[in-house]
Amino acid sequence: MSSRRVVIIGAGYAGVMAANRLAGRRQPDDLNVTVVNPGADLIQRIRLHEVAAGSRATAQVPMRSVLSGRAEFIEDSASRIDPVNRHVYFSSGREPIGYDTLLYAVGSGHTSADVPAGAHGFGDAESASRLRARLSQLDEGAAVSIVGAGLTGIELAAEIAEQYPRLHVRLISRGIIGSDLSGSGQHAVRSRLAALGVEILENTDVQWRDDSTLTTSGGYILTSDCAVWAAGFRVPGLARDSGLPTDAEGRLIVDESLSCPEYPEIFGAGDAVRVRTRSAATCG
Ligand SMILES: Cc1cc2nc3c(=O)[nH]c(=O)nc-3n(C[C@H](O)[C@H](O)[C@H](O)COP(=O)(O)OP(=O)(O)OC[C@H]3O[C@@H](n4cnc5c(N)ncnc54)[C@H](O)[C@@H]3O)c2cc1C
Repeated sequence: MSSRRVVIIGAGYAGVMAANRLAGRRQPDDLNVTVVNPGADLIQRIRLHEVAAGSRATAQVPMRSVLSGRAEFIEDSASRIDPVNRHVYFSSGREPIGYDTLLYAVGSGHTSADVPAGAHGFGDAESASRLRARLSQLDEGAAVSIVGAGLTGIELAAEIAEQYPRLHVRLISRGIIGSDLSGSGQHAVRSRLAALGVEILENTDVQWRDDSTLTTSGGYILTSDCAVWAAGFRVPGLARDSGLPTDAEGRLIVDESLSCPEYPEIFGAGDAVRVRTRSAATCG
């Protein structure tokens, strides 16, 4: 019996977990698992705020230490998926590879285009290292403004305040802090931030005047020695550019079994997909 080829695009948490589960099956020989990722390290994104604040040296782990030895690894970036002929093309120009089953797991981040001039973007390993260097240079009493109070902004504010009690940390939210959390969750977040001395500004939109000055929607001027942009959510455009069904943000649309209804041999997992439930589909 010839083995089926499973190609996994993206080796973050979703891609590596899927590859290891497939490669670790009792009878793995009927499947050939290939993982494609642009870097040779797994980036533990949930640790990036610790890297930025200096409480952890790195969030990078060598891919080969976490990825099953049974999975083939291609260090490259997928540039296009041909869902009709079932091929994946590469940015480097290497020969495209075919697949029987594809897992789309390209994750999320921000693009530098989203980040206002003068602000530190935050969301990947490079931006975490840059922020770490900047924070370590700040003097006693310097102000750090973090714009965007989703979980990333909250975690970053708390970590910086904890590691740098000499800095004044400010967290600015367009809405309510932790709006996705339960009432008790919001209360716990607020209490912890307050205990760490984090200044919280809610229902506040900001505009960048220059690299150290923000104007709030209420007309206040905030000066900071370091402004961090932790807002916004972007996914790679690969699915959309490949003609696959996506939502307005470019996330691959999958059903409850994580398969793409138009191309059932394509599955998606992680940040880069939108699961459309049957009830949502019925409602349009
Ligand atoms: C500071 C911070 C703290 C967080 N804390 C938490 C938390 O406490 N709990 C929680 O649940 N979540 C947290 N998150 C969110 C969490 O990190 C993401 O939900 C998670 O990383 C998504 O996993 P993923 O595998 O979908 O994508 P990612 O981890 O983003 O990995 C995607 C991979 O795909 C690769 N890729 C992209 N494009 C291509 C391409 N064209 N070809 C090949 N490969 C490609 C990328 O290089 C990357 O390696 C946090 C995020 C941040 C930034």
